[in-house]
Amino acid sequence: MKISKRIQGLTGGGSDGWDIYRRSRAMIADGKDVIELTIGEHDRRTEPEILTAMYEAALGGHTGYSSIPGISELRDAIAVRTTERTGIKTERENILVTPGGQAALFAAHMVACDPGDTGLFIDPYYATYPGTIRAVGAVARPVPARARFGFQPQWDDIAQDAGSSQSLLINSPNNPTGVVYSEDTMNTIVRAAQEFDLWLVSDEVYDSQLWSGTHLSPRQWSDMTERTLVVGSVSKSNSMTGSRFVWIIGPEEAIDHLSNLSTHTNYGVPGFIQDAAVFALSQGPEFEDRIAKPFRRRHAAVGEYLMSRQVKVVPSTASMYLMVDIRSTGLSGEEFANRLLDDHLIAVMPGESFGASGAGHLRIALTIDDERLMTAAAKITDMIQALASEAA
Ligand code: PMP
Repeated sequence: MKISKRIQGLTGGGSDGWDIYRRSRAMIADGKDVIELTIGEHDRRTEPEILTAMYEAALGGHTGYSSIPGISELRDAIAVRTTERTGIKTERENILVTPGGQAALFAAHMVACDPGDTGLFIDPYYATYPGTIRAVGAVARPVPARARFGFQPQWDDIAQDAGSSQSLLINSPNNPTGVVYSEDTMNTIVRAAQEFDLWLVSDEVYDSQLWSGTHLSPRQWSDMTERTLVVGSVSKSNSMTGSRFVWIIGPEEAIDHLSNLSTHTNYGVPGFIQDAAVFALSQGPEFEDRIAKPFRRRHAAVGEYLMSRQVKVVPSTASMYLMVDIRSTGLSGEEFANRLLDDHLIAVMPGESFGASGAGHLRIALTIDDERLMTAAAKITDMIQALASEAA
């Protein structure tokens, strides 16, 4: 059997970073009571009123092929959300809906890169980024965002390979760190995109999980709407991860090409999902705040608890995650996470799953009820302290 080199090389030959997640799921399937803090999935499922809208749309007959770039009402609703949140005038023609963030990130890189081109991405990164860039036949090259700079990317690191690259993928608010790029960082990124003539792919799927400050999108910088492709989503903002409904915002010409790509790949998003998304978006920011509220509360509570016990928490102002520095234990994130799972039945993601810059860290997803979460935080702290005093 001849399998293409492109698909064989998708994960770059190493682990895809999901080993702990898979191991913990297997243990749960075996009946073990694992506290599962790996993936970014809400503990509260899609709200019943959204499901009712979906059901009614399906019963009403919206079950056939739907509009490929997205029904007009939905593209308008996304354009309004974008204009309201960023202050940048965005029209229906700037929007394409796609089935899931993964599909959107792939599609964006189909616009930005030809086979053999280089796509940059900031490390630490959402685990699929390099594979997504490789999927379009491009070379995926990490740009380190270093712990000592609070995981804010710096000019020298971006500029190093930017001259020989075609795109830069950024993610703020960031998964895994929860860090929001400062205005200075955004200035740096925008300057690099302009100076080195890069497409900027901006993954903003966590824009509703901001615990202080304001969300910045690179489209807000002058002359950036023509070279920026934003990936946005209701997955996190409306607890609709399973609906596989996401959008891309970009210049009209790029959106036309992306619509053509959808015609030749996924043929759009099911109509009843699009109708449910229109309903979800019509609920406005208060609804999104309600979905975000438990994560805001847990982010503060767990962060304060860990710091009160001298655990080094990465300072962050967003997201359903907390990143913890465990370098004092002398273990890698992977070793620590494996031991935590075996000895205490708690599953967290090792920082290494998100790239070399995440090494020596853990990412804790704040996705279970507060009581169990605090129990897990206490056990993680005990283990860090025991190992750190052994190592000292
Ligand atoms: N980007 C980031 C940074 C993510 O964390 C995720 C999902 N965890 C995605 C994209 C994909 O999101 P979706 O559920 O919309 O496919």
